Amino acid sequence: MTAEPLPPPQSVETCVIGSGFGGLSIAASLEASGAEYLVVDKGRTPGGRAATRRFADSRFDHGLPFLTDKGPLTRELISRGEAAGMLRQMERFDGENDAWYSPAGISALGKHLAMDLNVRNAAKVTSIEPESGSLRLTVEQGEMTTSLRVVQNLILTAPIPQALELLAALTPDWPEIEEPPYREAIVAMVRVDPARLPEGPAVQTAPTGGGTVIRDYMKFDDVKPGISFRFSPEQSRDLFEASEGEIVATALDLIEPLTGFIPAGMVQLMKWRYANGAGTVSQPYFETVADGVNVRVCGDAFLAGEADGTEASLLSCRSALESLA
Ligand SMILES: Cc1cc2nc3c(=O)[nH]c(=O)nc-3n(C[C@H](O)[C@H](O)[C@H](O)COP(=O)(O)OP(=O)(O)OC[C@H]3O[C@@H](n4cnc5c(N)ncnc54)[C@H](O)[C@@H]3O)c2cc1C
Repeated sequence: MTAEPLPPPQSVETCVIGSGFGGLSIAASLEASGAEYLVVDKGRTPGGRAATRRFADSRFDHGLPFLTDKGPLTRELISRGEAAGMLRQMERFDGENDAWYSPAGISALGKHLAMDLNVRNAAKVTSIEPESGSLRLTVEQGEMTTSLRVVQNLILTAPIPQALELLAALTPDWPEIEEPPYREAIVAMVRVDPARLPEGPAVQTAPTGGGTVIRDYMKFDDVKPGISFRFSPEQSRDLFEASEGEIVATALDLIEPLTGFIPAGMVQLMKWRYANGAGTVSQPYFETVADGVNVRVCGDAFLAGEADGTEASLLSCRSALESLA
């Protein structure tokens, strides 16, 4: 894993766009089979939506907060993370399910998984164009713009709207998606006074879809305490275009009945337009051939009704890769 500029000559058999858990699972299989591949991701570190942020001396998992047992592929990921000391079990975190969290922040798991793989971060693909029997990707790496020639397979694990936008010039004929494939999520990260830590369970959800408080300080013991407030999917959708001030004020009002206190100041927001697959795309992946290159689009918005979240992403990515074998 590195964020260094792509070295010339920039040509590869298989390119994977995205180093979230889905893209990294594909990379691990390609590495094991000895294939020539490269993963590029616009994010500064691997992990994608399994992301951790430091703010006001606190640490927050502001995307995927922890892994739960969603199926065999997620279980495999959890076992790997546990064996490497990256994940720890939190029992009955919501009264029903066990959860696995990373004491170093969930992004540490992404970094660990990417360690021995050919992954370039801080590398944003801005266009994909045909070039005599191959595809040429324009890749922005900070101030530098490079290009990467893909000769056999291109696998996009970016959220569907972003992936299809990149592919628009090549293949306009994708299946019709009637409903939005993702739900929005807004997360408010809140620094908490250590002298007034709100008591309660690690995860506390309001009974009427009024959002969820996660006591991040129960996971991390080496930083100042913080909690994250997750708006419900409906609240996130309704507030998505609201001003930052309105969202913060709403979050503080909603936190009070859950924790018994209104945290003062020090709030930062994270808005995810494409947070979770909405369960509207039932096929396992999209496929096409463009200028002789096999193209696949996969991720957690696929396999609706069969799996969701991390499991859907891992399953969709595995199916997409197997279809190329
Ligand atoms: C707030 C929140 C809560 C969640 N809660 C849960 C949960 O409780 N349980 C659960 O199972 N799942 C949950 N999820 C979903 C879960 O995080 C994802 O399903 C999982 O991380 C799989 O991600 P992925 O690899 O398919 O996609 P991602 O992690 O999104 O990876 C795609 C990658 O593509 C990269 N990319 C996009 N465009 C470009 C480009 N042009 N050039 C280069 N790179 C690009 C992005 O930077 C990103 O890293 C949650 C997500 C969020 C945001």
